[in-house]
Amino acid sequence: MALIVQKYGGSSVADIEKIKYVAKKIVETKRKGNKVVVVVSAMGKTTDNLISLAKQIMPNPPEKELDLLLSTGEIVSVALLCMAIELYGEQAEGFPGYLAGIKTDAFYTKARIQKIEPSKILEEIEKDKIVVVAGFQGISPENSITTLGRGGSDLTAIALAGAIKADKCEIYTDVEGVFTADPNKVPNAKLISIISYDELLEMASSGAKVMQSRAVEFAKKYKIPFIVKSTFKETGGTMVKEIEFKEGAVVSSVAIDENQAKITIFNVPDKPGMAGKIFSALGEAGINVDVIVQNVGKENFADISFTVNINEMEKAKNIVEKVAKEIGAERVVADPDICKVSIIGIGMMNHPGVAGKMFTCLAKCGINIEMISTSEIKISCVIRKKDGQKALLELHKEFIEKS
Ligand code: ADP
Ligand code: ASP
Ligand code: MG
Repeated sequence: MALIVQKYGGSSVADIEKIKYVAKKIVETKRKGNKVVVVVSAMGKTTDNLISLAKQIMPNPPEKELDLLLSTGEIVSVALLCMAIELYGEQAEGFPGYLAGIKTDAFYTKARIQKIEPSKILEEIEKDKIVVVAGFQGISPENSITTLGRGGSDLTAIALAGAIKADKCEIYTDVEGVFTADPNKVPNAKLISIISYDELLEMASSGAKVMQSRAVEFAKKYKIPFIVKSTFKETGGTMVKEIEFKEGAVVSSVAIDENQAKITIFNVPDKPGMAGKIFSALGEAGINVDVIVQNVGKENFADISFTVNINEMEKAKNIVEKVAKEIGAERVVADPDICKVSIIGIGMMNHPGVAGKMFTCLAKCGINIEMISTSEIKISCVIRKKDGQKALLELHKEFIEKS
């Protein structure tokens, strides 16, 4: 007998037929003698639709109320899935995040889990029930509902698996696992059967939305192995765990992030403390900054550009405009028409020349690189959004298909 956490994403529960199919699968797992805790996302595009309702009230809805609204999507799925499980003859107990003991900080719309008190879940499991928990949500210290950032049901599943010391954590989705690139964008993408936390983390933070990056970060920190597999096809999937580096492919995947925007502050006084002021103000507002570039100063002024998630572009621009005034910078421009393409691979650590090959590949397609950032196992380039898809295909050809 094993204690198993299964997570079903939005596309796996997009309609009643799919909810019934998922319920059957869960019941089968239980009847094989396992104890099952299920984490479920909102049906299909529910979260996007709720966001658009809020935006019809005001373009930047208050985040606390937005979280209250968004949390309802997952609760609908929990209730329906419990009903379907009971239809197939097993008992189910459904929990919204706050009743499942998921305690977070108060950073609404991207709260971090601070601790999980799983006693209620474990009590119900002991009563031989299937427990269904709403993904993507928790409760703040002031007892308000929070959400965990887009894709946050992955984090709920991983964190719960850690908290209840599950024997297995299975993430079910609409593709067969983690591929060398998004299989919906690159037809020649190949399934990866086993991948390290580090590589998947870089992929996820480069736009491969198959797993939420915070969820992978959590799994790495607490050493929680998990498997990503298809809800609808019986295939092996991708095992994600700590793996020793062996000589192999230099680049294991390519990714694109089309949800980035670039902000440039022109003519920042070129003296100590300026960047500190700008990025501290963004940090205090909870805005994650990704690629940062500062031009070489000219006549005591320099330009600073950085990227943020496109949903935070306006908020970031407003904050930076205030700081720019204070420090005497000239003006701030926000540009939503960019994207970021990345190549990722542990093998890169021991291989010089990868960056040159990437830049040449983009140049051959006539694609201009606007910003570059690197880590030990990743190289990213910010380019025009219209060039993104071509860049992705060409990089996959160059680094995955040819090797
Ligand atoms: P869920 O609703 O199950 O959470 P998501 O839509 O969040 O599913 O994530 C699955 C999607 O991730 C796939 O449909 C695919 O288009 C996308 N994706 C992006 N990059 C990759 C990749 N490297 N491997 C697999 N899927 C990827
Ligand atoms: N429903 C949420 C979202 O769309 C959480 C998730 O799907 O994991 O982002
Ligand atoms: Mg997801």
